[in-house]
Amino acid sequence: MALWMALRGYPVHPLAPGTKTPAPNCSDCRTARHAPQDCPCRSRGGWCHGFHAATTDPDTVRRWWGTDPEPGIGVSCGPAGLVVVDVDAHGAPVPDRQRLLPGIPIDDRVDLTGLGSGYDTLALLAAYRSAPNPCEDTSTLRVRTPSGGMHIWYRAALNGPRFRCSSGSSSRVALAWQVDVRATGGYIVAPSTRTTAGVYEPLPGARVPAPLPLWLTAELVRTGHCVETPPAPAEPRTPRAKAVTPRGHRQDGQRVLASLLDEVRSCGASREGTAFSEKLNRAAFTAGGLAAAGHFTEAEARRSLLEVAEQARPHQPRRIALIVETGLRAGSDRPIHPKGRP
Ligand SMILES: [Zn+2]
Ligand SMILES: [Zn+2]
Repeated sequence: MALWMALRGYPVHPLAPGTKTPAPNCSDCRTARHAPQDCPCRSRGGWCHGFHAATTDPDTVRRWWGTDPEPGIGVSCGPAGLVVVDVDAHGAPVPDRQRLLPGIPIDDRVDLTGLGSGYDTLALLAAYRSAPNPCEDTSTLRVRTPSGGMHIWYRAALNGPRFRCSSGSSSRVALAWQVDVRATGGYIVAPSTRTTAGVYEPLPGARVPAPLPLWLTAELVRTGHCVETPPAPAEPRTPRAKAVTPRGHRQDGQRVLASLLDEVRSCGASREGTAFSEKLNRAAFTAGGLAAAGHFTEAEARRSLLEVAEQARPHQPRRIALIVETGLRAGSDRPIHPKGRP
């Protein structure tokens, strides 16, 4: 299985037999202070530093796994181009409803009786976005974990943003309570791995990862999972005429968008901590709905959104483009007809 994965381009590294943690470092590396990329063991075929040692080299893989007991298999998610949604089901006290889906207020009228795991919060998030539940996504590889959780494997877009790992219990970056994200800077236990707790077993459905759904891409962007890429070399920009932000005297749809754009624009006053992604996502989503209802064209909306967002955050063109596109696309499913003035 390790070789099968390596030959398909997934860099693998051994897990300590019977566990889900990486095989231990050599004694030198346990005490030495060096960065994983400077480790001398790698050139000697060692597996020190966990997922940093992951390889697709068939000879190395044959050597690492030709032992008894066989090590389990870890896959280094970043170089494998994987984003894995890790759904947990361990008993834990349910937090306040406002902490279940970070950034999404859950109305008091929503009945949360029986909610108790990542299965529930992920289903809630999918329902909130009117998207299919990833736990039931048979188009992609899903793996049942020995503790009753589920790993949903997805392929990240080739030229899309890179995503970081997160834990569902983090108060800083999280997708949903009891839902972890495994991506760049992390590893995932491969199917067929056996630990003392049981086997990581593929569930019925596809045996290879499907592309990360657009709506989940948007959710990961919104919840701060983007690994910032270094800014592209600055292009000389032709100053445009005034930003397209029609005010009150125009149609209602344009007025609604203008006030959302103002919120995005206000983020320019400070470099962080302004909920920029959140505000841009909301503006793009609403713009998509207003364009679908004919208040303006989608091209007009895109131009305004990009212009305002790039003024507020001049060095994040890729992230901005992604939020705008996903927001517009998602919003276009729901035409919005604003009524009167507030
Ligand atoms: Zn070592
Ligand atoms: Zn080392």
